[in-house]
Amino acid sequence: MKKKETEHFHELLIIGAGASGLMAAIRAARQGVDVALLEHTDKIGRKLLITGNGRCNLTNQIQRPEYYRSHHCQTAWQIVSKFTKDDTIAFFQELGLLLRERSGGIYPWSNQAASVLRVLKSELYYLGIPIYYRAEPIKLYKDKKRGCFCCETEGARYFGKKLILAAGSKAAEKTGSDGSGYALAHMLGHSIYPPLPALVPLIAKEPYFRRLAGVRAEGKITLYGNGREMASDIGELQITEYGISGIPAFQVSRYAAEALYEKKHVTAELDFCPCLTVQELEYRIEKQKKKGIRTREALIGILNEKLADELHTRTENRKELAERIKCFPATITGTKGFDFCQVCAGGVPLTEIDPETMESKREKGLYLAGELLDVDGACGGYNLQWAWASGHLAGASAAAGIKGEYIL
Ligand SMILES: Cc1cc2nc3c(=O)[nH]c(=O)nc-3n(C[C@H](O)[C@H](O)[C@H](O)COP(=O)(O)OP(=O)(O)OC[C@H]3O[C@@H](n4cnc5c(N)ncnc54)[C@H](O)[C@@H]3O)c2cc1C
Repeated sequence: MKKKETEHFHELLIIGAGASGLMAAIRAARQGVDVALLEHTDKIGRKLLITGNGRCNLTNQIQRPEYYRSHHCQTAWQIVSKFTKDDTIAFFQELGLLLRERSGGIYPWSNQAASVLRVLKSELYYLGIPIYYRAEPIKLYKDKKRGCFCCETEGARYFGKKLILAAGSKAAEKTGSDGSGYALAHMLGHSIYPPLPALVPLIAKEPYFRRLAGVRAEGKITLYGNGREMASDIGELQITEYGISGIPAFQVSRYAAEALYEKKHVTAELDFCPCLTVQELEYRIEKQKKKGIRTREALIGILNEKLADELHTRTENRKELAERIKCFPATITGTKGFDFCQVCAGGVPLTEIDPETMESKREKGLYLAGELLDVDGACGGYNLQWAWASGHLAGASAAAGIKGEYIL
């Protein structure tokens, strides 16, 4: 016998209870809309808990258009400009979250990402927003007869006049974002730029990375695709047995993933001493040599000891050494993939939504928010800023649409 299906009716349905979905729900409910969240796992906001190494870098004081990467960067910036970092700060302060700033990054004063989720949960509770857990959409469509969206799950059907898709990407699947959001967007007529891992460690071919594993050094990474410079970044490089990690590697990784996807030959150069020129390095090595100090010892005065060992066993020539310190080569063969990335590049094209409202151009009454869309931010709070901004705009617009219908 077929199990009896339960039916739930709400003005606004939101699929995905992560950063963007929670923001959209709060924003819409504050406008007096009956909103419900559908979450396919048994917890909400799981990814938030692991952000910023458990501390949650929720936005950044320094905002620039180039920190929001997309096939349509200007549109991404247009959307972020509608709900700025100041709006994010004010939103969380109003929820009772005490904040702190570290090098531009905004964190909860408690240094615990759990505080961010806690205040969001309290607000959901205060606004009386229902959450349907373990709600795995099987079918999603616009019920033309009833004039509303219908989301079918095992044993239940959910109806909403308006729908917000906020199901995230396929980065860090264990948190719930398993890529199923792309299929849902596709069911409602959207296309998808292939999702690629971003903010992710890089895999390098050369065997010396295994020997250098554990080295942490200030440096610069410059990335090339078919010999053309694509991106660079400075900061603490972390050498691992498979290749290169650390924030500078994360920052350039989306360009590596894209180029590899396009079958380009991807290489990187590591500069382990960006503060000195080749000539200055040569001079320093030579000066020590003249005092009778061996090359290895001269290098240890400048570099991490493991690096100094690796370099000096290759050559004693000071010019070659200086060049190698400034230009340590790597052939990039891959990234550590979706399980190890923080975000995905790619997703639903921004050309398929109205940037003034986040409403789909393919399906009226449907709105999209968060990482499901083709935007990946730089490391430093920009991905959450995108989630808050797009979620806020989607929630406000969907609610206004519903209220507008009432007025009529
Ligand atoms: C390790 C790590 C550290 C990070 N640190 C930072 C940081 O410090 N600062 C920063 O700005 N960004 C950070 N990010 C990125 C940031 O967390 C994400 O960009 C952001 O959470 C995306 O929000 P979202 O709402 O689009 O998706 P998510 O937060 O992934 O939420 C999507 C939700 O939808 C649910 N869902 C998925 N599919 C379905 C479905 N079919 N049906 C129902 N529900 C579904 C998921 O279970 C999930 O709850 C980090 C990411 C990771 C992995």
